[in-house]
Amino acid sequence: MVVIGAGQSGLAASHFLSGRSVDHVVLERGEVANSWRRERWDSLRLLTPNWQSRLPGLRYEGPDPDGYMTTGEVTEFIERFAALSRAPVRTGTDVTSVRRAGDGYHVATSRGEIACRAVVIASGACNQPAVPPFTEAVPASVEQLTPFDYRDPAKLPEGGVLVVGASATGVQLAAELRQSGRPVTLCVGEHVRLPRRYRGRDVLWWMDASGVWDQRYDEVDDLTRARRLPSPQLAGTAERATLDLNALASMGVEMVGRWAAVRDGRALFSGGLRNVFSLADLKMARLLDTFDEWARAHGRDAEVGPPERFAPTRVPSSARLQLDLRSGEIRTIVWATGFRPDYRWLDVPVIDAKGRLDHDGGVVASPGLYALGLPVLRRRRSTFLCGAEDDAREVIEHLTRYLAGPG
Ligand SMILES: Cc1cc2nc3c(=O)[nH]c(=O)nc-3n(C[C@H](O)[C@H](O)[C@H](O)COP(=O)(O)OP(=O)(O)OC[C@H]3O[C@@H](n4cnc5c(N)ncnc54)[C@H](O)[C@@H]3O)c2cc1C
Repeated sequence: MVVIGAGQSGLAASHFLSGRSVDHVVLERGEVANSWRRERWDSLRLLTPNWQSRLPGLRYEGPDPDGYMTTGEVTEFIERFAALSRAPVRTGTDVTSVRRAGDGYHVATSRGEIACRAVVIASGACNQPAVPPFTEAVPASVEQLTPFDYRDPAKLPEGGVLVVGASATGVQLAAELRQSGRPVTLCVGEHVRLPRRYRGRDVLWWMDASGVWDQRYDEVDDLTRARRLPSPQLAGTAERATLDLNALASMGVEMVGRWAAVRDGRALFSGGLRNVFSLADLKMARLLDTFDEWARAHGRDAEVGPPERFAPTRVPSSARLQLDLRSGEIRTIVWATGFRPDYRWLDVPVIDAKGRLDHDGGVVASPGLYALGLPVLRRRRSTFLCGAEDDAREVIEHLTRYLAGPG
């Protein structure tokens, strides 16, 4: 049995495989928790509170349950889990090909080849930044960065920054860059607005307690859409402050619409910010309604504060529809336009035209092939640290039944 990737998903899979005495190895191209070591910016803290950091048999037990871990602390947490569960990890082992062979798979790596009956793909959902095609039309005088290249504001050239994308990464980087004293313009498309705290509790407490995060993939109305939903506008800071577009506007961040095209060195933005904002406001209000209904129905009203509603997102009086990228106003563009997995090594025909893995709750459309750590894989929380345990348990249950079958 081969597990690809020693992040939280692969290690959780390994934990349950060991529990069922299934002989296996975890292949990792870098080190344990590699993405947290190499692919995150310096100031990043989890947007999930510490008490929510949990893996099978391991919980946060430090002095600050309501705080938010740095990437160094997440790395330590995952390393501790790997050690506790004695995961058989082979680090520095890059999987270069997986193909069907007989009734199993042939796995080629930078350190030799392995034949096995089953493979768990836990190689991550965020292996590469997803950037739109028009990056090539941006004038060479403007530096372009992705969240994989970005480390801290001091490394950017002096001058204005255009941050593209207003999900968790975009709003966090826009705030950090603005606080460093730079003029920041933020391109806003569809986004998920959330308050950091609601009725006196962290909003993710509500997601957890109300069961919203546990909604199963086979109960979600529009699964394709749910799987493409951007990350919420949240940041983990000591002040536990809300980081929505109103907060950014108060810091002096200028909002423009979704980036539509580049023409003659000008970035063209969509209009209609009002609609984009009101949709996000509406969805947030609906979610808060769900929380309120849950609290009422479960007799929890007394232990939390009174229901709250938040001011609508302020629409700028006149959002710019274009920006001349040759004028020198913008020196850097940060593409915070999402991430995607990388399956170039997967030589099994299970990837669709959009690069997505064809799977049903982590059971991939090829016998003995499984996946973990993808958006809404089995639950809404699947890609979060606190989502690895339940998904891995169920996927490994399926896998062990498969291995016990006729081979
Ligand atoms: C910017 C950002 C912020 C996030 N913040 C939070 C947060 O606040 N709270 C939260 O709960 N979640 C957060 N997440 C989501 C999630 O927890 C992380 O994406 C997490 O890293 C996912 O774990 P994973 O094990 O599924 O994948 P990864 O951590 O990406 O692990 C996959 C592993 O597979 C290895 N690998 C990949 N390809 C190969 C190959 N071909 N051969 C060998 N090894 C390979 C990689 O090196 C990596 O170590 C965040 C994600 C991102 C991108």
